[in-house]
Amino acid sequence: MIAYIGIGANLGQARANVEDALLRLAALPATDLLARSSLWKTAPVDAAGDDYINAVACLDTALAPDALLTQLQAIELAHGRERPYRNAPRTLDLDILLYGEQRIDSAALTVPHPRMHERAFVLAPLAEIAPDAVIAGIGAVAALLPALAGQAIERLD
Ligand code: ATP
Ligand code: CA
Ligand code: CA
Repeated sequence: MIAYIGIGANLGQARANVEDALLRLAALPATDLLARSSLWKTAPVDAAGDDYINAVACLDTALAPDALLTQLQAIELAHGRERPYRNAPRTLDLDILLYGEQRIDSAALTVPHPRMHERAFVLAPLAEIAPDAVIAGIGAVAALLPALAGQAIERLD
């Protein structure tokens, strides 16, 4: 299954944390890292703290969605992720954006990620590696991005 993972960090060595997360995603069982975006920098949305570093990874994985989420949470924990309050600064955040074309709505998982289409820091890196990807029920990534032009976001490297 092709899955897209949103990666974000704004605490500690944010850039190094995102790069390390990409290495760990590539090393997951039954999973290949097919593509990765550039690193992008954004000011926090609805939150305090330092700027965010964001990226998106494309995985080819045989892990089921819940197993993939468990693996992502283990990587977050390896980076000391804590959740003191909603939208708190974080060492590492890994979200399942898309899992094939599946729509999932369980207690632990909503896929496509329900807020991804309103976030330039998700859609801009996703558009780099998958402009034609479709968010089920919403639309194609590249077509959604212009509506978010007001969100300041900067590509690094
Ligand atoms: P947001 O979801 O708005 O990006 P967040 O990433 O800061 O917020 P977290 O505290 O990291 O939120 O996650 C809260 C819960 O969201 C997790 O425990 C997880 O079970 C659930 N969740 C639901 N859908 C997803 C998804 N697609 N990817 C990752 N976690 C998800
Ligand atoms: Ca998130
Ligand atoms: Ca998350």
